[in-house]
Amino acid sequence: MPGSQYKVTSTKIHHSLYSLTDSSEAGPEDEEPDSLLQLTPLQKLTTDMCKNEKTIKELIIGRRVGFYKVRGEIGSGTFSRVKMAFHALTKDKVALKILDRTRMDAQAQRLLSKEISSMELLQHPNVVRLYEVVETPSRLYLVLEYAGGGDLHNRICNEGKLSDNTSKVTFAQILSAVKYMHNLNIIHRDLKAENILFTCSGCVKVADFGFSTQLSNRNMMLDTFCGSPPYAAPELFRDESYAGPLVDVWAMGVLLFFMVTGSMPFRAETMGKLRRCIMGGAYSVPPWVPGPCQRLIRGILKVAPNERYAMDQMLGCDWLLPVEFPWSLLPPEPMQRLQSLMDLKQEDEEVLRSLEQLGFTAEHLRSNQLQDSRSPLTGVYRILLHRRLKHRGFDSTPVVRGMVRDPKREGLRAYRGLRHTSKLCVIS
Ligand code: ATP
Ligand code: MG
Repeated sequence: MPGSQYKVTSTKIHHSLYSLTDSSEAGPEDEEPDSLLQLTPLQKLTTDMCKNEKTIKELIIGRRVGFYKVRGEIGSGTFSRVKMAFHALTKDKVALKILDRTRMDAQAQRLLSKEISSMELLQHPNVVRLYEVVETPSRLYLVLEYAGGGDLHNRICNEGKLSDNTSKVTFAQILSAVKYMHNLNIIHRDLKAENILFTCSGCVKVADFGFSTQLSNRNMMLDTFCGSPPYAAPELFRDESYAGPLVDVWAMGVLLFFMVTGSMPFRAETMGKLRRCIMGGAYSVPPWVPGPCQRLIRGILKVAPNERYAMDQMLGCDWLLPVEFPWSLLPPEPMQRLQSLMDLKQEDEEVLRSLEQLGFTAEHLRSNQLQDSRSPLTGVYRILLHRRLKHRGFDSTPVVRGMVRDPKREGLRAYRGLRHTSKLCVIS
């Protein structure tokens, strides 16, 4: 039966549904006469998934996936289709990235498992969050934070280049996300406008970790050449191996150029010509691009990888000085990993209370290993936790101040305070 894996064992009904204390000592006289009316939302959902004909049919035809109700398609990529969905219990909107397992060879499976393991480590306001992974024999579903504001590529194609201030705010958020992932030794390797998404409130979300990888140490060199050719760094065409972070930095330079001019720095009719253009660093920044932004572009798009701006140089550059981040709201370090939901601290009381109200019992919470993205409880927990962070302003966008009084001091402050279709292709 499609929903049978979600069956809640009958003993759970004896746990207090609205507190985490075990009430199994309560006598039969304490039970409500009609226990069906007393079902928690979780019990009702899991019962429906096993017994309700309509729900079972929806599970079979893919209108439901695990605890999620599936709606229309919102995007597609080389390897996936992406649909909108709702969590049946929390009602939150999510994006479901659907991958066909029957069409995946060993390499695609390796990439997918890296996509999942990278995303599991990342909790940043400007990185799409992975809530849960649902597996069926033929498909794999990544349940992702929903970014309903479209992608950067479509925005520029439809509306033209971004204004100077919008470019600043957008680039600053991409920078914040990439700095954060590089600190965790995660390299994206497919940064491009199609993978920069926006939420409905305009917050940037870096998406698509399908080519990402985690380095075992900072100096480790990589030799798998992947990404989208117009964003590919010169060394990808030239060298046997490359330093991952510097390839992401180059792609950020291409993104920045695209944002402020509305066109790509390297364009050619053939792959050979494109390659020569990139290897020769043949681009020109239009003269009307503001000077500080021109300097930043030139600092990033350097053919020699080691001459490229480092993350902190970008963060402290003149062009980004007026950008003010809600830094105090950012987690300085990756969040501490919990062993089980029972480790939740006082400040997570709200999440815990919501879980109880939905019907998760002390036993559920004790046994759940939160590292396991394949558990529906992990999905609910991450969605509720993220909702709470969002209420606290976690996803607020930076603002651009009107004036920078003392550029030199402000630059130091910024520096100190900040802690096309992709292919897996052998480019050379
Ligand atoms: P490719 O490798 O061709 O870039 P892919 O198969 O790896 O694609 P994604 O890039 O992750 O797939 O997603 C494809 C498209 O689906 C995105 O360009 C975007 O339009 C949409 N999409 C993906 N994730 C989300 C999300 N979290 N919220 C909203 N839309 C999304
Ligand atoms: Mg993509």
